[in-house]
Amino acid sequence: NHENIKNGESSMNSSIVSLKNVEKWFGENHVVKNMNLEIQEGEFLTLLGPSGCGKTTTLRMIAGFEDASSGTIEVQGVRVEEMEPFQRDVNTVFQNYSLFPHMTVFENVAYGPSIKKVPKEQIKKSVSEMLELVQMSGYESRKPDELSGGQKQRVAIARALINQPRVLLLDDPLGALDMKLRRQMQIELKRLQKKLGITFVYVTHDQEEAMTMSDRIAVMSDGLILQIDNPVEIYEKPKSRFVADFIGESNIFDGKIKTMEDGILHAECKQGDCLLYGKGFEAGEDIFISVRPEYLMLSKEKQEGFSLKAKIIDYVFMGTLVKAILLTEDGKEIKYSRFEKNQSLDIGDEVYLYWDYDKGVAIKKTSFDEENN
Ligand code: ATP
Repeated sequence: NHENIKNGESSMNSSIVSLKNVEKWFGENHVVKNMNLEIQEGEFLTLLGPSGCGKTTTLRMIAGFEDASSGTIEVQGVRVEEMEPFQRDVNTVFQNYSLFPHMTVFENVAYGPSIKKVPKEQIKKSVSEMLELVQMSGYESRKPDELSGGQKQRVAIARALINQPRVLLLDDPLGALDMKLRRQMQIELKRLQKKLGITFVYVTHDQEEAMTMSDRIAVMSDGLILQIDNPVEIYEKPKSRFVADFIGESNIFDGKIKTMEDGILHAECKQGDCLLYGKGFEAGEDIFISVRPEYLMLSKEKQEGFSLKAKIIDYVFMGTLVKAILLTEDGKEIKYSRFEKNQSLDIGDEVYLYWDYDKGVAIKKTSFDEENN
């Protein structure tokens, strides 16, 4: 029962890709649920979510490798549901590169324009430009199996970009690379996207990757977009318990709103009272309260509006960060992480928890969170 969740957002202007009421069923399996998604021209939009939530299926429906069960998909204002993948103004980059193994790097990149019968001289020029763009000049005559994973992915990107798509769809393109190369390629890809001004629709289950690269992130779970926002907003103001949990670390309390004044919510939980940020709530409402470990503060004295108490059970200095674990009286574990070490605190101390009121986020209780927690 998800009727109180709107999957995606209402329509906006100048969207280059638009999904309206898109559903996807695989037999009995409902993998994309009434999705509405407007992707803006030139933006880097990431579909982020755990394995099996429907990210790849969504991307494949835009690409044309999968049919939607119902709903409409538009690219540049043109309905594409009946079009073959190659007729759509999009190109896809896959995690496994999908390069033609028997062709050289040059032939792979030249593939798109050659089947369109572009003159040879012009192809040569564009291939050379594309390889330069992805820093692969000089590798023209190599075969894919003579390249590293990162190099193969660069060639795959050049092969997609040479077709000058308005939209590039990327399905976990860095998923097969080791962490260091992955980080480096993230920066390169983001730079490339900015330089070319092409719309990127990017699929990943790596939240750090999504946070560093995206203009907006659509956080998905179980076929639904739970929140679509810029990375800062997603991190600072999660709108559901799932998003608060999935992105970064969170301390989540069950609470109830007591009073509200000037946009500050006073809430009570069984561990004590606290102050919060939140809009659109009512006094008496049951809520979740989410506080990031790095926004949590500890004090031996009670702070105004706060009476949450816990005992420090672990307190370690990790070079640049102090990390602590606390336990409330009823056995709830609290994560704490800050840059400066508070010299007066140590393991065994009983302390009060508090935060700048706007760093505590009030979250609506929805049927989705109830069912999934
Ligand atoms: P991952 O990160 O693991 O790739 P995902 O979020 O991209 O996951 P999808 O690949 O979109 O998830 O799959 C969503 C659901 O649809 C899964 O339950 C999957 O098993 C199912 N599914 C995907 N493709 C098919 C198919 N061709 N036939 C039947 N079920 C499928």
